[in-house]
Amino acid sequence: MCGIFGIFGHPKASELTFLGLHALQHRGQESAGISVSDGETIHTRRGQGLVSEVFSRDEYLEFEGNQAIGHVRYTTAGDSGLLNAQPLVFRYTGGQVAVAHNGNLVNAKRLRDQLERQGSIFQTNSDTEVVSHLIARAGPPIDHAFQDALRVIDGAYALLLMTEKQMIAAQDPRGFRPLSLGQFENAWVVSSETCALNTIGADFVREIKPGELLVFDEKGLQMRSFTGVQTRKICSFEYIYFARPDSEVDGISVHSVRKELGRELCREAPAEADLVIGVPDSGLAAAVGYAEQCGLPYELGMMKNRYVGRTFIQPNQELRRRGVKMKLSVVRKAVEGKRVVLVDDSIVRGITSGRIVSMLKDNGATEVHMRVTSPPITHPCLYGIDTARRMELIAAEMSVDEIRDEIGADSLHFLSEKGMIQATGREDLSEDQGHCLSCFNGKYPTPTT
Ligand code: 5GP
Ligand code: SF4
Ligand code: MG
Repeated sequence: MCGIFGIFGHPKASELTFLGLHALQHRGQESAGISVSDGETIHTRRGQGLVSEVFSRDEYLEFEGNQAIGHVRYTTAGDSGLLNAQPLVFRYTGGQVAVAHNGNLVNAKRLRDQLERQGSIFQTNSDTEVVSHLIARAGPPIDHAFQDALRVIDGAYALLLMTEKQMIAAQDPRGFRPLSLGQFENAWVVSSETCALNTIGADFVREIKPGELLVFDEKGLQMRSFTGVQTRKICSFEYIYFARPDSEVDGISVHSVRKELGRELCREAPAEADLVIGVPDSGLAAAVGYAEQCGLPYELGMMKNRYVGRTFIQPNQELRRRGVKMKLSVVRKAVEGKRVVLVDDSIVRGITSGRIVSMLKDNGATEVHMRVTSPPITHPCLYGIDTARRMELIAAEMSVDEIRDEIGADSLHFLSEKGMIQATGREDLSEDQGHCLSCFNGKYPTPTT
């Protein structure tokens, strides 16, 4: 999980990138960085923390230049330290290059070992650095070097590259992560999500297609495909959990999908209950959909402290346990003496749901019927989402009934794969327009090492 944003051809490039990253903050809160080019030199600032912590107003305005790329990071490969913050900047024989990456390369380790044997010296342990070494070895022109590197790396990547005079965007051949092209005044914009285009007032042009490379320079925009077969495998969790509800992923509104996920859940598993509540924030739209479909009242039964980052970011289980309590609380008046349907997006380790169920019961809920808008997560994600090592995945170890007992719910239902796909409105699309479902079924669309 990460967010990337870039703009080419605007005198306020750094300020717009700051605003764009701010709109992508939900995709990563560990570090943020911006590289700006004035046509001669690339200036970069990176730091740990939120976009607003890394960049005070004066700092991002101090960079002049018509092109910029930026990144917000959520560690999946490599350490979370500052050294791994992006954009990653390096020098090759053609000049300076800045790289921002969202995703995870499945063959990074093998490539890294090979490159090290051949003399490359790595500065970081992030998989993104493999891309820079491949480019450095190939030499200019950059677009050819990049294209060759893309044919060697495998896995999930939405990548933005910037030299002093060019910006290049690439989407992996399966399109695991969303990546959109927009236009702002006379400038081109590339963003992980459309919500950032809206924030700066840019027009959405189109999705960047699987296996596509876009080169922006003084000649304009060139588009080409760098692979033969392109099979879309958009990450199901972009719809279920990650993307912001006001974004469209692959032309489909995330908010509408979440509401429909809730409706599907009610069709599959209605409950005898008095009201429906959602776990903020990603469970709320689904809870509304569930309530509408089942004809039950929807209540604001839980509050989220919006000044605490996403639970997963806490480094260990003990801290995560505490993090859940810091983040969520129950509105006693809403649930006391009531049979409650509780809607959430996923159960990963089962810690969050267990905590929430007991909080509801401590606050007087007489029954808790948990409904989850994704199927059980039984396999780890290889494509850049932190869904734990396999042994930490509760659904890899326990049956649905066992999980129900473990979290203390009165009933539990996970949405079926079919129901989930139906809710995205993509079920009529051909096989090559589908979702990644690997963490539900263990079928990985790429080699696994
Ligand atoms: P757990 O079951 O591991 O205690 O936590 C599940 C909760 O964590 C869900 O409410 C979900 O919204 C949230 N969550 C935070 N980060 C992630 C992530 O990377 N993937 C998924 N699927 N859920 C996450
Ligand atoms: Fe998304 Fe799961 Fe696929 Fe990872 S394995 S990309 S979390 S659908
Ligand atoms: Mg949640």
